[in-house]
Amino acid sequence: MNRKKYVLGNLKMNLTQQSLRNLLEGVSSYIQNSPPPSSWQVGMAPVAIHLPLALPFQSSNFQLLAQNCAAYEKGAYTGEVSTEQLADLGVSGTIVGHSERREYFHENDIIIREKIKLALGNKLKVVYCCGENLAERKISIHEEVVGLQIRTAFSELTADHLENIIIAYEPVWAIGTGETATPQQAQEMHHFIRNTVADLFGKQVAQQIAILYGGSVKPDNAAELFAQPDVDGALVGGAALKSDSFNAIIQATH
Ligand code: PEP
Repeated sequence: MNRKKYVLGNLKMNLTQQSLRNLLEGVSSYIQNSPPPSSWQVGMAPVAIHLPLALPFQSSNFQLLAQNCAAYEKGAYTGEVSTEQLADLGVSGTIVGHSERREYFHENDIIIREKIKLALGNKLKVVYCCGENLAERKISIHEEVVGLQIRTAFSELTADHLENIIIAYEPVWAIGTGETATPQQAQEMHHFIRNTVADLFGKQVAQQIAILYGGSVKPDNAAELFAQPDVDGALVGGAALKSDSFNAIIQATH
C-alpha cells in the first residue's frame, strides 16, 4: 500500500505578509534540511490574497492550497475567487467544506459538491473536510453524519476523480478547542470513512485515498495519531501558525 500522506497547515484569517514570509521561510528551510519520508508531502493554505506572496515557496515537497473557492464558475459573484483563477495562479489545490465555512457561511454538502467538481475540472487537488459536531457525537450519530456528508458531496464523482481528493476528518468539537480526538477515536472514524469510500468507489480507491485527521493536532500528539493505520497525516490549524510547532509536527512523520 503506497498511500500518500500529508501534513497541511490551514492558516485561516491569520498573519500579515511579513509574518507569513517568516513562517514560510522557517518551514521551507526545515524541510530542505530534514525532509519528511518520501511518501509524505507538506502544504500550507494561507488567506487568498497572500497566495501570490507564497507562490515562490511552492516546490515538489511543499504545496500551496487555497482555503476555499467559489461554487460558481465565473461572473457576478462579488468577493468570490474561482477555481479557474486559483489554477491560473498556480496553486496545487483548495480546501473545501471546512467546518467554519459550514457553520459561519452556511455551506452544505450540495454547495461543497459544486466546489469539488469545479476544482477537479480545473485540475486542482481537493482537501474535503467533514466531521460531526459535539451534539452529534454525544448522541452517537457521528458515523451517520459523516457518512451522509461524504455520500452527498461525492455523489456526482467517479472513481477517477478520487485520485485528486484528500479527505480531512475534523470533528468540530476538536477544532481550535485544545481537545483532540483520541488516536482510537480518530482511527475508528478513519476506518469508517475508508469503508464508506470503498462502498461508493471500490476497495482499491479506498486503499489509495489519504484521510487526514484535523482537530488540535500539536507536536505532542501528532506521532501517536500518525501511527494509526488509517490516519494519513493531519490538517493543522493553530499549530501551523508558528514554524517551530509546525516543523515539530513534520518531524513526527519520521
Ligand atoms: C482546522 O482549522 O482545520 C484545525 C484543525 O484547527 P486546529 O488545529 O486549531 O484545531
